[in-house]
Amino acid sequence: MSSTAVKPEPSPFVFAVGELRPGDHRDYVAEGPLGVTLDTGRVVNDVSLTVRISALSDGVVANGTVTFGAVLVCHRCLAENTEERSVEVMQVFQAEPDEDGRRFESDGTIDIEPAVRDEVVLGLPLAPLCRSDCLGLCTVCGTDLNTNPCSGHTDESDHPLAALRQLLDPQDT
Ligand SMILES: [Zn+2]
Ligand SMILES: [Zn+2]
Repeated sequence: MSSTAVKPEPSPFVFAVGELRPGDHRDYVAEGPLGVTLDTGRVVNDVSLTVRISALSDGVVANGTVTFGAVLVCHRCLAENTEERSVEVMQVFQAEPDEDGRRFESDGTIDIEPAVRDEVVLGLPLAPLCRSDCLGLCTVCGTDLNTNPCSGHTDESDHPLAALRQLLDPQDT
């Protein structure tokens, strides 16, 4: 067994663009993991980025498309579905970035990964549905109503006294 120190893997989303002169542009393709995991879904496998980097007078701008696979968790029935999604990325890099910009490093490299990550997170739905008419889970017994009708409980809104209760409820405005 060798005990060589593990060298940090260079990020596939870091590009050396110091040679670009204002007006020049160059196209890149990159693939790599992002490790985005939210309650509502997660990115699986590597994401792929196609990007054009154009030099400005005081930095560069990256314009690209990120394509990725995401497992989405239905917020009604909790079923998981895998979807292919894609989002646009646009990011300016400058030596002295303003609040929307990111840093153009003095060694001539830019790191697009944070911008890619932001767009991918924004590109995941806040409340995914397995299908628009998902019936969800029974709130009383947890049965998946898409596959099993649940007939064991009285529906509150069908109760003969529900209308009367609504009239008397002071919170109901
Ligand atoms: Zn569902
Ligand atoms: Zn039930």
